[in-house]
Amino acid sequence: MAEIRTIAVIGAGTMGRGIAHASALGGYRTILEDILPATLRRAGEEIRANLDQAVELGKVTAAEASAAFDRIEYATSVDSAARDADLVIEAVPEEMESKIEIFTQLDKFSRPTTILASNTSSLSITEIASVTYRAPKCIGMHFFNPVHKMKLLEVVKALETDADTLASIVEVGRRMKKEVVVIKESPGFITSRINAMIGNEAFYMLQEGIASAEDIDKALKLGLNHPMGPFELVDLVGLDTRLHILEYLHKTLGEKYRPAPLLAQYVKAGRLGKKAGRGVYEYPDGLPATRRETHSAGSASANPLKKQP
Ligand code: NAD
Repeated sequence: MAEIRTIAVIGAGTMGRGIAHASALGGYRTILEDILPATLRRAGEEIRANLDQAVELGKVTAAEASAAFDRIEYATSVDSAARDADLVIEAVPEEMESKIEIFTQLDKFSRPTTILASNTSSLSITEIASVTYRAPKCIGMHFFNPVHKMKLLEVVKALETDADTLASIVEVGRRMKKEVVVIKESPGFITSRINAMIGNEAFYMLQEGIASAEDIDKALKLGLNHPMGPFELVDLVGLDTRLHILEYLHKTLGEKYRPAPLLAQYVKAGRLGKKAGRGVYEYPDGLPATRRETHSAGSASANPLKKQP
């Protein structure tokens, strides 16, 4: 099995920051990278707050939380993040072109022995791996939102993933305190395929005026025992992420996954969910609109955080 000491996480959005949290608590030196310095700053603050909450709940000691926080370094280029990593976990938006661009860079900048993983919710790891010279060392690690609370890790074995890579990643999942299921690559794996179907159906119902979003959520929670309603969940996941997943499932698995037009309309309106301050529901105290950060992306040159590799 490959020895994993340093993990780089590419993309510090909803998922990347949670993966970095779990990685650091698992004892790994962790390098979190994003193209937006403001996102990195917010990620650091959120990780600190979630670690503090874990201490308050008695899940970790104050010393363990501080040690984990100190294991995280921050970077604003793939090159500097990947250089020293034994494992890189990519968590950039759910678009094949973005994944391919990142994996091409990772293959160039990381050591030949480094394992490259993607947190994609649905896309083909085999296709992503095909742009590298190390397809046997490419694998899927599908975490769940919020990563620091959710127990499951779906490990996705692509066509050419080798046994050593699989064993190494199962061990990393165990050290991050996740329950692991290993699956053979298929669009949407287990969870995204089922979840996309339920969430899409809910949007069709809303579009048809069958019930309000609140009542659809209430029905699934109280009648079907779901812990969250489909709209509460999609606001957490991100409507853009859900739309990308459905578009891919529609393309690969067929008609029954065609995205509801209302979902596409919400995305066009910028109603991306909690991360944008509004999705199906409004979050007046939510985080600032991502658009603002995007506009300031090019202007901030220095990483405002404490350490850079
Ligand atoms: P997000 O939009 O919240 O975050 C993506 C981050 O990637 C942003 O911070 C963005 O600035 C950064 N980024 C974009 N291009 C980059 C680049 N070239 N280099 C470095 N950083 C870059 O997205 P997310 O919800 O965290 O989703 C990320 C991945 O995780 C997707 O593949 C998604 O399908 C998957 N996923 C999401 C969820 C969920 O609930 N949101 C759950 C499981 C898996």
